[in-house]
Amino acid sequence: MSVTTGAIMSPASAHKADHQYQTAKEPVAEGRGGAVSTVDPEASAAAIEVLSKGGNAVDAAVAAAATLGVTEPYSAGIGGGGYFVYYDANSGKIHTIDGRETAPAAMPTNAFIDPANGKPYNFTPELVTSGVSVGVPGTPATWERALERWGKFSLAKALEPAIEVAERGFVVDETFRQQTDDNDERFRAFPATTELFLPGGQLPVVGSVLKNEDLADTYRLLADEGTRAFYEGPLADEIAKTVQNPPKDPATKLPVPKGFMTAQDLAKYRAIDQDPTHVNYRGYDVYGMAPSSSGGTTVGEALNILETFDLPAVAKADRAAALHHYLEATALAFADRGKYVGDPAFVDVPTEALLDEVFGKERACEINPLKAATKPVPAGDVTSYDGVCPVKPAALADEKDTENISTTNLTVSDKWGNVVEYTLTIEQTGGSGITVPGRGFILNNELTDFNTVYNPTEANRIEPGKRPRSSMSPTIVLKDGEPFLALGSPGGSTIITTVLQTLINRIDFGMSIEDALAAPRATQRNTANVTAEPAFIDQYGTDLTARFGHKLVPAGDAFTSAAEIGAATAIEFDLDGRTVTAVAEPVRRGGGSAMVVKPER
Ligand code: GLU
Repeated sequence: MSVTTGAIMSPASAHKADHQYQTAKEPVAEGRGGAVSTVDPEASAAAIEVLSKGGNAVDAAVAAAATLGVTEPYSAGIGGGGYFVYYDANSGKIHTIDGRETAPAAMPTNAFIDPANGKPYNFTPELVTSGVSVGVPGTPATWERALERWGKFSLAKALEPAIEVAERGFVVDETFRQQTDDNDERFRAFPATTELFLPGGQLPVVGSVLKNEDLADTYRLLADEGTRAFYEGPLADEIAKTVQNPPKDPATKLPVPKGFMTAQDLAKYRAIDQDPTHVNYRGYDVYGMAPSSSGGTTVGEALNILETFDLPAVAKADRAAALHHYLEATALAFADRGKYVGDPAFVDVPTEALLDEVFGKERACEINPLKAATKPVPAGDVTSYDGVCPVKPAALADEKDTENISTTNLTVSDKWGNVVEYTLTIEQTGGSGITVPGRGFILNNELTDFNTVYNPTEANRIEPGKRPRSSMSPTIVLKDGEPFLALGSPGGSTIITTVLQTLINRIDFGMSIEDALAAPRATQRNTANVTAEPAFIDQYGTDLTARFGHKLVPAGDAFTSAAEIGAATAIEFDLDGRTVTAVAEPVRRGGGSAMVVKPER
């Protein structure tokens, strides 16, 4: 990537200038003719350009995702995977594509054990910066499949805006600089990554312009030859070689274990057409992503649990009590996620039971409205339930949460009423840190989403050819058969709680979608402590601790400097079916970018 210290345009002029640096960020946009929300103004502008040129929501989503591969290369790109959810206005149906990364065929079940000493690799730095954690990327196949099923544009046309941004560059902001800094040691371990993202060996300066000509060339290759040129031929060979023998700087102290991916693994990769998950929550039809993601089942189960309480009434009288129910419901749903959810091609996932409202009712028996349960709580019994309290406990699900917080999410709608909700990732911010030399993109480290120590009884155990369980939760909500709301977020396993919390903020607490998304967040994933943003602790900490016994700790982890949870995007559809409100984060991740084709506010 080359760097230019460019004049930064003022936000207003940048917004107006066609095809020029997009730096202005508006968290809310209202209007008609199509809309988009992403974390980045270049990506949102790419979607608006496509929508304005006659493309539909699917074309615009691919254009935005490809642009995020340029401007958010540490969160997503063709080296990763994701889940695509689509509402088709013509048929009124929801469809999904599972574009999750997949374990190589030769990956042994003990792949995460260090052959040198027979002990599990440390998660950091060994596993996160390694070839062994790189899954076969699913993102190019997802784009191609989505366009072939529902798009109006060819892949070549949908990639045009991203190629332009990669060539002319984008303006580095503080979030990008900070993320590069957070990855400094890992990126310096690989000359190809240093060259791209630490030009001249230096951290990119805020306000400078970064280009990625290698990625522009790779996108051009896909535009000319289709994604076959990614999954077969020289590029596939280079990807396999890079994974098998990560090209590291001899001076690095990082161990960088080698991976098992072959060119054949790439040739065999397929994005999968899937049925969505579905629950009805207080009259709203909530659709999400089925396994291999745990997003749809876990959000759905928690909603079924919460529906047994009159949450709107509780919230009106006592917001802390309503939040207590939210936290307890997610702990229960996470216990079941841990025990039962893995790749359905390899394990029997009881998706139907997990989404059954009778099961949810029975799980709700476990919630004491006055007191937080001791965590972790045990999983429920999906083989026998009748929705009647009390229930017999099943064995304890015990697992360590190693998902990191990266990823990106986008929401798009078009003038025909089609809607896309798409979450994509390379796992950790900065993925594996390994760039395929000369190709302009970083490879994922998604296989760290497997339970890292092999246990043959666990649903999410490592197996060759399997997809690691995800938490990504792209969600589309219909009301009376029409789109009401589409939303999603990054954030590892907190994605599930961010989507859920935003839904209950909107549906049960009656907040506007802007407020629902901006409100302070907390996440209870069946652990002793509730992780919460500082503003949430300020507002509700005393009540939740003193009255209910929750232990709240501030968000922030070893990998990032931010004390925040998620970075959601959403679009809400007005009842007239034409006006929409696109919403992005006002503050988190430096703020997101909402745009509409024809603004009305
Ligand atoms: N790897 C995570 C998942 O699939 C996403 C990572 C993230 O959001 O940071 O659920």
